[in-house]
Amino acid sequence: MKRDSDCIFCKIVAGEIPCTKVLEDDVALGFMDIGPVAEAHVLLIPKPHYETVDELPSDLAAGTLKHLPELVRAISAATGCEGLNVLQNNGAIAGQLVPHVHFHLIPRDIGGKFQFNWPAGKYPEGKMEQLAEKIRQNL
Ligand code: AMP
Ligand code: ZN
Repeated sequence: MKRDSDCIFCKIVAGEIPCTKVLEDDVALGFMDIGPVAEAHVLLIPKPHYETVDELPSDLAAGTLKHLPELVRAISAATGCEGLNVLQNNGAIAGQLVPHVHFHLIPRDIGGKFQFNWPAGKYPEGKMEQLAEKIRQNL
C-alpha cells in the first residue's frame, strides 16, 4: 500500500500509533479526531497515502466516500446533533495540516463553538459562465 513514512495518518493505518476507530474496511478508516472542534468529530480517510483529493484514484475516492452516509447517520444517532458538516481541507492554504487526505465529520448544534465565515459574493455579468466553461475544458 502507498504510504509515507513521516505521515501520522499512515502510522495510524499501520497500527504504529493508536487511534480510536469507529469504522474500518480494506481501503478506508474512520476514527475520532484527537483535537475535536465538536464532540464526536470523526475523520474518514483512505488508507493509502495521497496528500490531496486531486491525487486520489477515483475508485479509492469512491471506496472511502461510500461510508459517508452510514457514518453521518451513526454520528447523528449517537450524538443527537441537529446537523453535521463534512469538511475537507485540501492544501495548506485551505487549512490542511496533515498531508494525508481526510474528511472531517463535524456534528453541529445550536450554540456550538465551531463556526465559519461564508462570504457569499456576486458575479458580474458573464463571469460565472466564463468560469464554468474553463472548468469544463479542464475535465
Ligand atoms: P486538517 O487541518 O484538515 O489537516 O486536520 C487535521 C486533523 O487531524 C485535526 O483536526 C487534528 O486534530 C487531527 N489529528 C492530528 N493528529 C491526530 C491523531 N493522531 N489522531 C486523531 N486525529 C488527529
Ligand atoms: Zn499518509
